Amino acid sequence: MTYDCAIVGGGPAGLNAALVLGRARRKVILLDNNQPRNAVTHESHGFITRDGVKPAEFRRIAYEEVLRYPSVEHQEVEVTRIEQDGNHFRIETASGQRIQARKLILSSGLKEVLPEIEGAREFYGTSLFNCPFCDGWELRDQPLVAVSEYKDLFHKAKLLLNWSRDLVLCTNGKGTITDEERQQLAKRNIPIIDKPIASFAGRDGQLEEVIFADGSRIARSGGFLSPAQVPNLALHEALGCEKNQLDGLVVDEMGRTSVPGVYAAGDAAYVMPAQLIFAAASGSRAGIGVHADMTEEDWHARPEEA
Ligand SMILES: Cc1cc2nc3c(=O)[nH]c(=O)nc-3n(C[C@H](O)[C@H](O)[C@H](O)COP(=O)(O)OP(=O)(O)OC[C@H]3O[C@@H](n4cnc5c(N)ncnc54)[C@H](O)[C@@H]3O)c2cc1C
Repeated sequence: MTYDCAIVGGGPAGLNAALVLGRARRKVILLDNNQPRNAVTHESHGFITRDGVKPAEFRRIAYEEVLRYPSVEHQEVEVTRIEQDGNHFRIETASGQRIQARKLILSSGLKEVLPEIEGAREFYGTSLFNCPFCDGWELRDQPLVAVSEYKDLFHKAKLLLNWSRDLVLCTNGKGTITDEERQQLAKRNIPIIDKPIASFAGRDGQLEEVIFADGSRIARSGGFLSPAQVPNLALHEALGCEKNQLDGLVVDEMGRTSVPGVYAAGDAAYVMPAQLIFAAASGSRAGIGVHADMTEEDWHARPEEA
């Protein structure tokens, strides 16, 4: 059997694509190995009607809605290989299955690589976060730290001031803030610590202190890190889709990549900002793109059909 569309990755992007295609009566298989980017966090914010929802609950509701449509199948499995064969795609899974589909939506998200600081993983998602729009409200007016080894730190500092005026910036020994930026921050009394960080300390996921390599420490009850963000694209490299500056896949307004028949959505087509609602919206667009393109192809290939 050939599916109309295989969707690799069942986060909000893949799920919304499946919803659109299911409602368009397309035969869809949604393949997902259940390792979403936000699995570490307890609540998701900023998605209207779902503000504060637990990530697992968000997914449960989404799968319940999507699987009401009889032409949508879901398998919890890892996709291990994808190749193009003429007008079709062949997909292999870790369970040894081979699946064939006319169109492919890549919605496999991205991986975050946290800075190598002891405790970063322990506090990430509970009192250390990445995105102030996602979790700034919960940390409002607290003593915060913003840690980044990248050039985003100055911009992030400016944004964060609206959530807390008690902010310390740390470059973890990388000194990524320019002299000009330092002058501007000094005028606003925002301290910068350039020393390498040895560890984050606290208990039960609640940050209490940032401890530096020289033994000094500051009390902080929360903050923001800047992980490296790497789209989960290893699997798709063989397809040869063009990438953007952030290493996400380049897509047009209907989610089409540079390879005909391959669409991408969500963090796999990474652009800023990368949030649930943008992922869902881009999944919807890719679903519409797939249905519209297949309709056109079939219309011209089979002109005799009504
Ligand atoms: C700590 C943290 C907190 C966040 N908080 C918020 C928030 O409050 N609000 C908000 O809007 N956003 C938040 N985000 C961002 C949000 O999680 C992402 O933007 C969103 O999940 C992207 O959706 P997606 O569908 O592209 O990818 P994901 O949700 O990551 O889903 C991708 C799916 O693809 C699957 N997959 C990957 N490779 C394969 C494979 N080979 N085979 C099968 N399946 C595969 C994965 O298992 C995963 O289920 C947060 C992120 C983090 C890290």
